[in-house]
Amino acid sequence: MVIFKSTQDIIEYISAEKGKGVKYGFVPTMGALHEGHLSLIARVRNEGQAVICSIFVNPTQFNDKKDLEKYPITTDADIELLVKAGCDVLFLPGVEEIYPGGEQQTRSYEFGYLDTILEGAKRPGHFKGVGQVVGRLLDIVQPDTLYLGQKDYQQCMVLTKLLELTGRDKMKLVICPTTREADGLAMSSRNRRLTEPQRIIAGVIYQCLVSIQTKQEGGSFAIVKKECEELLAAKGFATEYVALADARDLTLLDEYNREIPMVALIAAKIGEIRLIDNILL
Ligand code: AMP
Repeated sequence: MVIFKSTQDIIEYISAEKGKGVKYGFVPTMGALHEGHLSLIARVRNEGQAVICSIFVNPTQFNDKKDLEKYPITTDADIELLVKAGCDVLFLPGVEEIYPGGEQQTRSYEFGYLDTILEGAKRPGHFKGVGQVVGRLLDIVQPDTLYLGQKDYQQCMVLTKLLELTGRDKMKLVICPTTREADGLAMSSRNRRLTEPQRIIAGVIYQCLVSIQTKQEGGSFAIVKKECEELLAAKGFATEYVALADARDLTLLDEYNREIPMVALIAAKIGEIRLIDNILL
């Protein structure tokens, strides 16, 4: 695996490799890697492309500065995992490589409706930061395919829009299924911060999503939502939302509509740790 910290160096390297006909799949991450990230890397390899992974904890997407300060950094372990997973290129830039003229000078994008609901509403400025960093990373890496996790469903929609806004019609986007722990908890870098008692109950978020999925047969979403909120509260979670939406554009739904593809989404905090998850119906 080759590691680059400098933007100029990686640009030159990738351009030379692409000249030889190498096709690249890109997996942007914030590090503290787990099996969810590694599943994306395995997918790139299975699809026959060389793998570029980036690790960059992007300050502009943290609306909560405490969350940024406490974000786990495990670079040495990450490098070891990436080598084992067969990653070809790792981009490990510092802030000055990504935002050379400062954050304000870096192009940002408007995501309209998508930025006003759910994560957009609860984390003001978050998607602006995500768009800014992924836009910049794509300019640098110029991959053939971008690989994202369904775990961050709304982010996938925002980045689909980013590809449209930046005229990257030829870039393929692959959305990979969520990797879970045995009790259903979606793998996340933030899970490392859970205490043991918190970890034991964290699987309840997935149980709620499964019950929303199961009860679409003849059930009422309004009732299931209330049950989920009560269960989450009983377990000590502060729920931010239990929502149902049209899976194609995230239009929020008050009730099940079996005529359209739907997605259920939950965000809840246990102690200081904010967890999100979703399930397709
Ligand atoms: P992050 O490091 O959290 O920014 O995530 C980097 C990429 O990995 C994003 O596309 C995430 O959606 C994806 N990802 C994170 N957790 C999982 C998971 N449990 N399963 C699959 N993909 C994931």
